[in-house]
Parts: sequence; structure tokens; C-alpha cells
Amino acid sequence: MKKFINARIYGQDEADEMLVEDGNFKAVGKNLGDADEVIDLENQLVLSPYVDPHLHLDYIFSGLGEGNANISGTLFEGIQRWSDNKKTLTKEMVRERAMEGIRKEVSHGVQYIRSHVDITDPELTGMKALLEVREELKEVVTLQLVAFPQEGFFRFEGAEELLEKALDMGADVAGGIPHFEISYEHGAESLKRIVDLAVKYDVMIDIHCDENDDPNSRFLEVLNALVMEKDYGQKTTASHTCSFGSADNSYAAKMMGLFKESNINFISCPTENAHLQGRTDSYPKRRGLTRVKELLENGNTVAFAQDSIADYWYPLGNGNMMNILDNGIHLAHYTHIDEINKAFDLVTINGAKVMQVEEQYGIESDKPANFIVLDANDAYGAIRERADVLASVRNGEYLFKRAPKTNEIAHDFLK
Ligand SMILES: [Zn+2]
Repeated sequence: MKKFINARIYGQDEADEMLVEDGNFKAVGKNLGDADEVIDLENQLVLSPYVDPHLHLDYIFSGLGEGNANISGTLFEGIQRWSDNKKTLTKEMVRERAMEGIRKEVSHGVQYIRSHVDITDPELTGMKALLEVREELKEVVTLQLVAFPQEGFFRFEGAEELLEKALDMGADVAGGIPHFEISYEHGAESLKRIVDLAVKYDVMIDIHCDENDDPNSRFLEVLNALVMEKDYGQKTTASHTCSFGSADNSYAAKMMGLFKESNINFISCPTENAHLQGRTDSYPKRRGLTRVKELLENGNTVAFAQDSIADYWYPLGNGNMMNILDNGIHLAHYTHIDEINKAFDLVTINGAKVMQVEEQYGIESDKPANFIVLDANDAYGAIRERADVLASVRNGEYLFKRAPKTNEIAHDFLK
């Protein structure tokens, strides 16, 4: 039995100790009694691990190297460049990229990742590689894979069969990209078929939905209607929905009522979409974000995600969810201290809800003893200082532990 003491547990002011046995929390509270090993967390902030619910592990680092830059900075040039590049991709290359991407995320305190994997490839190279990685690294990270038709469900010949094959092989989630199909009708029909496939295989749905600035892009409305009718909203996520941030207020108000009925989830990728959207604007330039605060107030789950690490769509990113959170709360106008105090939800529990892992997630008795320790004493201080993750514990064991940054040399003023 192991006991962590002097923990400032996010959202649990009344508890400061965590008792761990056989990889699970045995108790969380105060004065929990003796243990074989006692670890003092020195009043540092303890969170459930970071969750990154939208990433593309098969693309990571594809944008590095001469001639690989996305010149226009648009989503569509990214898709074209990827389409050209992936013809030479091998399983080993995908594996190496994914391993490096996961290493980066885990070393920043992430323990749950949902990765889209392009299945518009007759060989399903990426999916084969990632299915092996999911199994190989399950002690380190919980990985969910989305069968994602990057080049279009209809635009890429055979995508429907490939998507179904990927679900047969063990993909966890069905994906789609309706705004990339050749007409509204094609996009809407793609959603209908993807939802039917997901229901048939009893898997979750995560759609790249309206990732554009067109206020009349309406695939979110179509997706929401389809899953509402099948009572499938809680298993469904609309990723991006940038256009909903540009939609007319009266239309948005109508949709909010329907989202409440369907219980559909949302993922916003603040750095990615601030980068990709607004490219056809002069000034004013739009932020590219969906209505994060309003959707949360509406009772829907919204999580933030990294999306890209140095790929054709986005040149930066390192898997640090604190950076995503910091950008996201600025872009979404989180200003009041009460909002900032709860902002960690966007990169922890909300992502876990989207991934439907919340029954195994959280600092509570009988759940896996998974948590991270930040170099801060409270949530507000951690966010304001963009605090580093000092330790990540999974099933009661350290994945890593590191010392806080200190000065080697310091002026008297800084001591
Ligand atoms: Zn994406």
C-alpha cells in the first residue's frame, strides 16, 4: 500500500491524501492511516491526467523538412500535400512518427489520446501501424483510433469499404469530413452512412465537422439531427465546428436547443483553428473557434485538443496541453477567475467524457490511480504561470518524475 500526502487535488478541497493499492485508488480523503510507502507531494496541484481527444498520430512531423511547408496555410493545401506524401508511407514510418508523438504527449502529462487515422489508403497502412501501437503502449497511454476518411467518404473511391474494414480491424470510432465532399448533398449523405456504420458496429462517432469559416456550412445541423433521432448523441462528437463561431445568432440559438436535446459533444482545437481559419478574411479576421463557452453553458461537453504536431496543417505543437489550454481560454474569452478555476476541465474530464472513459477516470476510490502533479499550488496559479507537469502516475506507478526548474546562476534580486 502506498500513500500520497499533501496533495492539492483539483476540485476536491476536502481531501489531501490518496491511498493506492494494486494500481487503484483505495481511498481519497484526509488522515487515511498508515501505508508501506508515503510520498509527500508538498502541496502541489494534482489533476487527473491530461486528455488529448483529437490528434493525428499518422501525420506527425510530416510537415518538417524542405519543401513540406503549407504555403497558403489552408486546410485544403494540407490535404493535397498529405495526399501526395502518403503514397510513399510505410508501416514502420507511421509507427516511428506515432511513437515520437506519443512520447511527447506523455512526457507532458497526457495519458489519454484519441487519434484520427487516415483510412483513404487501400493498404490501410496507418491503421495497421496504429492498432499495433495501441496494444503495445496500453500500459503507458489509453489510445483510441478513429477510422478517418481524410480524402473524403465519397471523393476517395472505396472509402466506405475501407472505413468498414478499419472498424472490423478494431478501430474505436467512425470519422468523417463532410465539408470536403463535393456538394452539400454528398456531405449530408456521407454523414448518414457513417452514422449507420457506427450504429451497426456500436462504436463512437467523431466527425471533422464544418472546419471552415462559412457561416452557412450546415453539417453540424445534419449530424446532430441524425444522432438525435437514433439517441446516439452522447457517443458522438463534432470536432472543430469553426463555422458555428461565425453563424448568425438567431440560427445559433435554435441549434443550441437541439444540441441540448441530442447531448452531442464538441472538440475545439484552439491553436490549430486560430492558425487555419480566417485565411480568406482581410480585417477583421475571425478567431476560428466554435462557441466554446456558450456550448458549455448549454450543458454540452466541450474539450480542447492539440490536433496537429508539425504536420501539413500546422507547423508547431508539442503535445503540451497547457499550451492548448492557455491559447483556448484566451480565444474563448475566459476572463472571470471562477471560469479560469474550472478551466482544467477542458483538458481533463471533458476529454474523458468525449472518449467515454470517465468510468475509469478521476481521483476516486476504485478507479485506476492515474494522476499528474503540477508545479503550482492551485488551479488559477497553475494556469496563470502555465505550470509544468512534474510527475505523471499511472496505475499507481510513476511514468516520470522531475525536479522543478531552478536557476544555476542567479542575481541576488532573483534569490
Ligand atoms: Zn483533425
